Amino acid sequence: MPNIDHTKKIVEISDVSFSYGKEEVLKDISLEIHQGDYLGLVGPNGAGKTTLLKIMLGLLPPKKGDIKLFGTDLKKFKKWSDIGYVPQKATNFDVNFPATVKEVVLMGRYGKKGLFRRTDGRDEIIAKKALQEVGMKEYENRLIGDLSGGQQQRVFIARAIAGEPKIIFLDEPTSGVDSKTQDEFYALIKKLNAELNLTLVLISHDIEKITKEAMHIACVDKTLVYHETPEKFLESVHAKEFVGENAKFTTHHHS
Ligand code: ADP
Repeated sequence: MPNIDHTKKIVEISDVSFSYGKEEVLKDISLEIHQGDYLGLVGPNGAGKTTLLKIMLGLLPPKKGDIKLFGTDLKKFKKWSDIGYVPQKATNFDVNFPATVKEVVLMGRYGKKGLFRRTDGRDEIIAKKALQEVGMKEYENRLIGDLSGGQQQRVFIARAIAGEPKIIFLDEPTSGVDSKTQDEFYALIKKLNAELNLTLVLISHDIEKITKEAMHIACVDKTLVYHETPEKFLESVHAKEFVGENAKFTTHHHS
């Protein structure tokens, strides 16, 4: 069982608001994420989950409020190699690019080494270990474009862990994922949390699943509606409000 160390604050969000133009998308969000936690970020479509993730990653500046990463103000934060990110779809990566699985995972080392430094034997060992971790070792010489969506996602997780981060932000893959692939994805990231003691933040579209998996649930709907253990969240009126009949948010996705 992974341990949460409440003395180590990995992310501190204080009173953050954000708007795209005039439309306020996030309002007065305060949230702390501690070392070893596995936080499921849930909420309806368009609730601001991705926006909040981008703010935590420093990709969008908050309009109001403060963010600290590892105790350092986001504006001064430099150790980006401590932070891993696995997007839902690898939009910034053309899977038709003729790169092998191993090459893709080695890209995860650049954050540690600087973009123009050559990778060496140690990087190869770390990349192979990461592939082992996600169960994709035997695919290392295959082209990334030849793999299934679920397998590509595993490779992107391997790329993130090859950077030896302390926290990983993930966006749950949704499109074209069958329930077996989804189960494997959840089993893998639970293992990363338990065995590598990696702090995880996962945007999930499946309340039923994430409440069985995560250690805490943060429910966002412009404001932070709820931040509690899955058990308490499920008992709350908020879960009932959102869950509706079929216990999922998976009815209509926007891209
Ligand atoms: P979620 O991830 O919970 O589905 P998002 O953070 O993607 O929600 O979006 C929150 C709101 O902000 C939505 O109304 C969405 O349409 C809007 N939005 C998202 N990205 C942009 C953007 N780049 N420009 C303008 N509006 C945006």
